[in-house]
Formats: sequence, C-alpha cells, structure tokens
Amino acid sequence: MKADGVGRGGTVEREPDQGLRPPWHRLTADSTLEELRVGEDGLTLTEARTRRSLHGPNVIGAEERIRPFRILGHQFTGALVLVLAAAGVVSLAIGHWEDAIVISIVLFLNAAIGFAQEYRAERAIAALKGLVTPRCVVMRDGRRQEVDSRELVPGDVVALDSGSRIPADLRLVRTTALNVDQSLLTGESMPVKKTASWTATSSEIPVAERRNMAFMGTTVASGRGRGVVVSIGGQTELGAIARDIRAVERPQTPLQRRMERFGRMVAVAIVVLAGVTFALGLLRGESMSQMFLTAVAIAVSAVPEGLPVVMTITLAVASRRMARRNAFVRRLAAVETLGSCTVIATDKTGTLTENRMTVTCVWAGGERFEVTGGGLDPDGEILSGGLPVPVDAPSPLHWTLLAGALCNEADLAGDESGDVRPQGDPTEVALLIVAEKAGLDRAREASSYPLVEAVPFESQRGWAATVHRIDGEQVVLLKGAPERVVGMCDAALAVGEDVPIEPETVEAEAARMGAAGLRVLGMAVGRGGSAVASVLAGEPQGLVFAGLTGMMDPPRPEVPETVAACRDAGIRVLMVTGDHESTAGSIARQVGILDAEGAEVVAGDRLTALSNDELTRALETGRVFARVAPADKLRIVESLARSGHIVAVTGDGVNDAPALKAAHVGAAMGRSGTDVAKEASDIVLADDRFATVAAAVEGGRTAFANLRNATFFLVSSGAGELLAILGSLLLRLPLPLLPAQLLWLNVVTNGVEDVALAVEPRDPARFRAPPRPVTEGILSRRLIERLVVTGLVMAAGTLWVFVGEWGGDPAQLGTARVAALTTLVLFQVFHVGSCRSETRSAFGMSPFSNRFLFFGVGASLLLHVGAMYFPPTQVLLKLEPLRVETWLRMAAVATTVVIAVELHKRLRPPGGRRGRGQAATSAATDPEPVMP
Ligand code: ADP
Ligand code: MG
Repeated sequence: MKADGVGRGGTVEREPDQGLRPPWHRLTADSTLEELRVGEDGLTLTEARTRRSLHGPNVIGAEERIRPFRILGHQFTGALVLVLAAAGVVSLAIGHWEDAIVISIVLFLNAAIGFAQEYRAERAIAALKGLVTPRCVVMRDGRRQEVDSRELVPGDVVALDSGSRIPADLRLVRTTALNVDQSLLTGESMPVKKTASWTATSSEIPVAERRNMAFMGTTVASGRGRGVVVSIGGQTELGAIARDIRAVERPQTPLQRRMERFGRMVAVAIVVLAGVTFALGLLRGESMSQMFLTAVAIAVSAVPEGLPVVMTITLAVASRRMARRNAFVRRLAAVETLGSCTVIATDKTGTLTENRMTVTCVWAGGERFEVTGGGLDPDGEILSGGLPVPVDAPSPLHWTLLAGALCNEADLAGDESGDVRPQGDPTEVALLIVAEKAGLDRAREASSYPLVEAVPFESQRGWAATVHRIDGEQVVLLKGAPERVVGMCDAALAVGEDVPIEPETVEAEAARMGAAGLRVLGMAVGRGGSAVASVLAGEPQGLVFAGLTGMMDPPRPEVPETVAACRDAGIRVLMVTGDHESTAGSIARQVGILDAEGAEVVAGDRLTALSNDELTRALETGRVFARVAPADKLRIVESLARSGHIVAVTGDGVNDAPALKAAHVGAAMGRSGTDVAKEASDIVLADDRFATVAAAVEGGRTAFANLRNATFFLVSSGAGELLAILGSLLLRLPLPLLPAQLLWLNVVTNGVEDVALAVEPRDPARFRAPPRPVTEGILSRRLIERLVVTGLVMAAGTLWVFVGEWGGDPAQLGTARVAALTTLVLFQVFHVGSCRSETRSAFGMSPFSNRFLFFGVGASLLLHVGAMYFPPTQVLLKLEPLRVETWLRMAAVATTVVIAVELHKRLRPPGGRRGRGQAATSAATDPEPVMP
C-alpha cells in the first residue's frame, strides 16, 4: 500500500480525528475505528475469520432452499393425474382390480419420475445462482482483496468504486466525490453526495440524511470511497426492511408461458379426441367401462404433460453448459432469447481486445517519442529518433508523464516475491509503467505535489483530474480523451514560454496514433485558481496542453475467427465504444468487423445529432460506432430493437446499465464490470471475452433446438398412439391396446426419452445457419407436417402388426395386443433417434454422443421385455412373450418411422421452399428458413 493516499484520493475528505460516536448507531454500528479494532489496513485474516464465526454470514434472511415436499406435492396437482386417480377409483368400484393396480403403479411411477426430474432441475438452477454471487473489494492484512460479499464481517474496510453495490452498512472513512444512489432505501431518485467528514449532530437523523454512511444494497453512482462495515445481514437498514418482504416467486420466462399455452392447446385437442374415441367405441358396442378407461388412457399417454419439466431441464442444462464456457446466466429467459439473437453490439476495450495496455508512444512539445519494453516490466526506454532521451523536469514530455502518473488511481503493489501485481484500470497501470521507465518515482513526486482534490475518471465524463499543491499554489493535472482535452486548453506547453495550441495538429497526431490501433489519452496542466475552480466545477477551462500518450491494446487472438463465425451464423457484430474513431476503426479492421478499407466509422457526436429514423438508417449500414456516450448506446440498442432485431449488448460501467437492461440480452463483464452493470444484465461473462458472447448465443440455439426436438418427440409419439386407437375404431377392429397397456407405454417410453433429448450435445453445424425468427413457435410448420406423417406411419404400422397377429382369431387377440404394444415401444425407440436433430440425418450421428439417450433407451427396452416375462406384470398388463418371427416383423415395421422422418428431412430441408400458395399469412410468420 505504499503509493496509497496518492491516486485514490489522499487528502480527500477523511473522517475527523476526534473519536466519533454518533448516538444513532446500534450495537456494532456504535463504534469508531478504534472500537471496531481496525485500522485503514483492514482486519487481519485471522481476525476476519474469528469475527466471521461470531457474526455469521452477511446475508439477509435464510437462503432460498429447495423444498422436496413442495416438489412432490406438485406431482399430484395436474388435471390428468386427477383424472387418472378418478379412473382408478372407478375401476375399483366396478371390480376391475387389475386396472386399479396398474393405475396406482402408473401414478406412483409418474410422480417418482416427475419428482426426480423436477428436483434435478431445481438443484441445477440453485447451483447456477451460486455462480453469480456478489463480490466486493476489502482490505485484509493490508492488502486489497476481492471477497464474496457474504464473507464480510463488522470491521472490514471496504473499497467503493463507481458502480459498486454497497455490500453492508458502512461508516465512510474516506470519500472522493462519492455519490450514492440510495433510492432503494429512501426513494430519492437522485444520487446523494456522501462525505466522510460529516458528523452526526443528533440521534434522530433519518437514514436519508446520514451522509457519512453508505447502506447495504444501494449503489455508487460515481466517485470513490472507503468505509468500515458497521452492520451486516439482517442488522442492516436493508435487512430491517427485507424481513417484511417474502421471497418473490420466480417469474416464468416468455418461452415457458408459450410452452404452457402450447401444452394446453394440445391437451384440449387430445381430450376432445379422447371423447370422440369414447363415443365411437360406444357406438361400436364396446363396453362403457372399457371405453372409459381407454379414453382416459389415451388422454394420459398422449397429452404431453412432460413438457414443462423438459422445458426447465433444457434451460437448466443449457445454462450449466454455458457456465462451463464462462457465460453465467442470471435470467433463464435469456437462454432462449440468445438463440434468436441477430445483432451483437460489443464493447471494444477488454472484450475484443486483451485490455493489457502498454504505452508505446508519446507526443509532447511537437516531438514524437517511442517507448520500448512491454507488459508490466518497467525496463524500457523513452527514445527520440532512436536514441534514449532524459526526461527533464520542466519539459512537456515530463509534464505529460507526470500527469499520467499522478492523476492515477491504479497501484503497482508488489507482493512478497517482488512480482508486480497491478491494481486498477489497465489504462492507468500502463501510465504508471511508462512513468517508471522515464525514471519518475511516483511516491517521491506525490510527496512534492501533495494531493488536494481528485475528480476520478467516469466514462461519461471522459476525463479525470487531480489538484495538487506546489509552493502554496494549486496545480491541476488532467488526462482524458484527446478531443475533450484539446477543447479545455488555450495554450500548449513548450520548453520555456507556453505557445498557442494548434488543435488541428493535436487532433491529427491523435488520429495518426489511433489509426495504428492505439488508445490515445491527452494530458493537460492547469495553473491558478480559475483553472482549479473550473475543473472542480466539472467544466475544465483555460488549461495548458502537455501531450498525448498512445497505448497498445492488442486484439484477442480468437476474435477474428469468432466474428467470422457470427457472420456465418447470420449475426451482425457491431462495435460500440467510447474510444476514438481511428482507434476503433483500426481494431475493427484487425478483427474483421470492418472489411473494406474505406468502410466508415460513425462518430458519437454525429450520433447525438441524428433523429431516430436517421439512426435506424445509420445502423443498417454502420458497423463501428466510436466516441459513443452511454446515452447513445441506449439509443442504439433501442433503435435496433425497434427495427425487429434481437439485440445482445455488452457493457461494464454504471452508465451501461440502461443499455444492458434495454437489450434483449444484456451481457455484463464479469471481471471489469461493475455490480450495477452485472445486476442489469441477463448473463455475466466471467472472462469478459467476445468469444464467450458468441458461445452463449450458440448455447441458446442448442437449448431451443433440444426443446423443440423433445417437444416434437413427445407430441408425435402421442399422435401415433392416438391415431392407432382411432384407426382401429374406424376400421371396426378390436382395440389394439388395453388401457393398462397404454399407460405402461406412457411410463416406459416417454419418461426417459424426452429428457434425453433435452441434454443432446451441441451441434456445431447449427451455428452456420441463420437465427430462428422469434415469431416462430415451438414447432415450425415443417415439423407439424412431419408430426402428421410420423403419427400416420406409427398408427398404420401398429395396426398392420396387430391385424397380422390377430388374423380374426379371438384366441390370438391377447398376443396381437402385446405385439401392437411392443411395436409402439419399438417405434418410439427408433423415433427418438431421428428426433435428435431436426435437419441432420440420424445416420450421421454417433449413438454414443448422447449417452443418456443411448442407455435410457436401452433401459426402457429391457424393462419392457422384462415385463413380458415377469409373472405379476404378465397378469396386470396382460403381457406374454412373443415369437422371434414376430419380433423380426415388429422391428422391420418400426424402422419405417426412421425412413419416413429421414426422407422428410431430405425433401423438406430448412429454407427449401415447396410451399403451395400459403402466401397470405406467410410473409411475416413464415417459419422458413429455420434453425437446424
Ligand atoms: P471504451 O472502454 O469503450 O474504450 P471508455 O468510455 O472507457 O471507452 O473510455 C472513453 C475514452 O476515455 C477513452 O478513449 C480514453 O480516451 C478516455 N479514458 C479511458 N480511461 C481513462 C482514464 N482512466 N482516465 C482518463 N481518460 C480515460
Ligand atoms: Mg472502458
């Protein structure tokens, strides 16, 4: 912590020295630094551990738990389950005890499978929540450390930064232009200025006015600060409120709602059909009880009750997979939206680039200097014309580097082993390193230029400044975006007298550096009271220009490939950055966002002037938007959304929060991002990388495809069963399946197979097709067509086998039913294989790439064969072993469903247009081309 007290705001407002004991504090809060037994270096690790065991975790209320009994209860609430239970009672009443037993077993198995699946899904979701716990920066053992906010204890010293969420109730001990948004507690919409030097005068001060306190749950709007934790968890002001608020229900995602509607629609259709079957059967002279049970069994097996659970599992599995690829999903709904994303608007610094800055050139006093060396290594030289130059005190070069070093919040703290472990913004770290190369000792310079005030960097301001005292005079050191800085200066430093500033020359030099892909910062100096006052007022004026620094931030190596992959996937990639046009353009060309040399970069000042319509037009062609103010980033997102795009946007700062919220998918930076940005986002990128956004989009596509395939499988299998029964009634055949057998089919087949489709691994080919239109429902028109085909094939095959075995001989009826049932089981075993992909041939897929499916199908088949030989199930389900010839015939018949589906995949490829005059409605909702 050697250089501390310089950049982070040395003489900035501090707690007054007299022992402070505001009477309004409760227990732990009623303490001074001494009483909390903590210095500015924070607690020792051992002390923190002791206090942790004493005070418990910093959480409000008990953490949300999974309640198994509630999940179990869930399994018995569905309408179908109730119908089934009623059917069981009726069966008992009329003396069909076998059916009653079968129904009880089905009810039990159904509940058990449902419970297992739902419990698993809940656990997966709970685990995901744990991945995005809030963290905060504390001083422990004299060192800055990032810890899980739940680990905070009273007495911890917490560092605050723009965009931090305040992790506990803090007594501020140091503030630098600290403004806190505490609307959560007080309802005030404007951020409130906080000061460490303020002291309480009475015990009756309301929360809103405790200006030396920062409260848990509120956020830092701007500025910096440090505070000591006085209360945690339930003892905080927020805790006092939160006790009254019950945990909110998890909201459903739009997809969940749509799926529910879809499920209900299918259910109604099936119940109607079951009613028709019932009536037809009675007309045919079947017994009332037989037909009642058949109708119930049809409804139970054909209605896709599995859908909601499959849905949750798909989303949970998808988010776990995304987490493995460093994208943490905060809102499950984002998973589906990601899949149809058409535009990604990304940041530049840190996302497309490494965010490892190195100053490579300096321009000062009209002269160009080169800087050698790279990374964090302070061994390097400042060269002019290839020769090392001394950095002498009063030169423009000296002032440029000095401003960079002193107007700086970063820290090059070394650890015991002597390795440099920089803390802070990489831009500022780079400035510290170049100052070291020039032989400027930051600590020494800081003591000869004591700090008076600091205006920390905020993205929307575009500059940072510090005020120092030299010989009784105050001096401003300022750094910021060059075009801003130039506007603040009316002279330029030179050796000797100041000279008039030539804005064009400076801008041209900045553009030249930018064109080489460098990030450019301008430095200026202000002398005298009016300059200082203008800086503190937030409108710097009358400064003297010192020089420019250009720093290199290489693009991440994988980005060009990812950008190209996104293009193949039909996704536009836009760069939206606060950086200069030429820097943005250069990086954009390097990573392939801009291809043509002449392609245009849209500048931020132009954006502000554009009307909404003009902006929409500019967004159609433009790819790179530079010098974008946070407010314009929001406009860009809104405009894209208005023109029908599904927008994913990345962001890190407090000011990005509105854009992150407005986007369909907001992706916050996990490392460099602020808490506020993370909370406004739908996913968090643990590694800040652009490739992770693309991976998340791909994950979203996989999730949707799996859900669609599982749904298709469920519905088409149900259609097969239903059509087989209806067909037998129409063809005046005996019923090919008994009610108990239908129920068995439902339990043996659908229970495992649909879930297995939900965990199907990703298919890289899917990312080479255009995104799915959002308007498209869960089943595309093509799939509905396929549904009819497969339903008919399965029904026809089943009836054919049935008739073949039966041959009109009443003695053979039982065997024929077993054959029909087994044929349907086999049909589904084969069918599930083709359902793994909507477009790709099942023959091109390894059966082992989805082990769960492979073994699940094997297990259900074994179970069925077992039941054919096991006496109790033989009695209950009227099963018996079948002859080998029958098995061969059934197997041959069952392959027809694969042939039909694979042919259909061939004949109706995605984007293939064999449409016959559906022109009227298809323009807006045409499902093709769809995602494979
Ligand atoms: P981005 O992260 O997209 O590059 P920022 O909003 O962070 O954009 O920065 C905008 C501009 O502000 C940068 O181009 C740079 O000139 C300037 N800037 C960035 N960081 C700092 C800083 N720490 N101090 C002063 N100026 C800065
Ligand atoms: Mg930035």
